[in-house]
Amino acid sequence: METAKGFFGTFGGSFVPENLQAALDKIEAAFDEAREDDAFKKEYQSILKEYVGRENPLTYAERLSERFGGPKIYLKREDLNHTGAHKINNVVGQILLAKRMGAHRIIAETGAGQHGVATATACAMFGMDCTIYMGKLDTERQALNVFRMELLGAEVVPVEQGQGRLKDAVDVALGDLIENYDHTFYLLGSAVGPHPYPSIVKYFQSVISEESKKQILEKEGRLPAAVVAVAGGGSNAIGSFAHYIEDTDVRLIGAEPEEAATMSKGKAANLHGFRTLVLQDENGNPAPTYSIAAGLDYPGIGPEHSHLKDSGRAEYYTVSKKEVMSAFKTLSETEGIIPALESAHAVALVKKLADEFSPEEPVIITISGRGDKDVAYVRELLDSGDFD
Ligand SMILES: *Cc1c(COP(=O)(O)O)cnc(C)c1O
Repeated sequence: METAKGFFGTFGGSFVPENLQAALDKIEAAFDEAREDDAFKKEYQSILKEYVGRENPLTYAERLSERFGGPKIYLKREDLNHTGAHKINNVVGQILLAKRMGAHRIIAETGAGQHGVATATACAMFGMDCTIYMGKLDTERQALNVFRMELLGAEVVPVEQGQGRLKDAVDVALGDLIENYDHTFYLLGSAVGPHPYPSIVKYFQSVISEESKKQILEKEGRLPAAVVAVAGGGSNAIGSFAHYIEDTDVRLIGAEPEEAATMSKGKAANLHGFRTLVLQDENGNPAPTYSIAAGLDYPGIGPEHSHLKDSGRAEYYTVSKKEVMSAFKTLSETEGIIPALESAHAVALVKKLADEFSPEEPVIITISGRGDKDVAYVRELLDSGDFD
């Protein structure tokens, strides 16, 4: 789907200052070489197996299927990976790439801390120096994740400039990269950013659909009627879709929160060095978003999703907080799987669309992560009485 220089249709590309472009060109060249190198692929696969714990199962959710009364639901279990979510797939891949480029220092930005923790984890395992930039406000709200990263040996730098939020942390991290790219690698956490990052992240997350396709063919002897995933920045969704994009009978469906409905309400614009659909305020600035799932709090989305939507290949729908809370409880009760609040968006969407499928039709939901990180917050939300 990728066309010239990292464009997906009219989306994507790289709109950055010259000195940053030099760093990106170097990463692109290394990535193009690595993906053709069997030894690189072998090492990546071996780490996925021995450290991440892949392949993870495609679990038939019998009781959930009965409860929703629609399709035959299968769950792709990214929640069972080491660190409890899909982010680690991309992190270990990019660290291998960094190593190949001779970098010994990894930098990353993090908002809620999930990408920071995954990065710090893999840096510990690879013996890499690790610096995580995090908005000052976010370090205060996510103190436990800051401690986790420090425990894993990373240095967490609170960013005070601007509003002390994720965007400011990205700016500082990019400044660091421009200064230090001879020995430092910027590890980006979702399928966003200027080329070549969206393609790199897709490549490493595609293991999700590579496995699920093989598994569903073994179990059902056919392709799924649909693959459903939540789309924040879009990395677990693009990885869940990747190996089905050419199979036009398979519906590709993305879920997003009503409060950060980038695909449903966004307009094309340039954000953080690439072109994509962006939620905007009246003045055309990126709109502030708020989601109950910290991992979905971003006004843009990976450029390939914008193109998949524009071209009609994929569909995107919103779900409300109330629907997400209900799905969170239903999956816990019916299957003994407490999902991340992010992943509960995908479950909620399948409940909403259940009528569109018959009981023989298999549908795969990607459970992008486990919900341990969310239980205290969910308890607070339920105690508030707003979700009865
Ligand atoms: C970060 C995160 C997401 C959202 O990120 P994507 O890039 O859209 O996948 C979704 N689920 C979980 C569990 C996450 O940690």
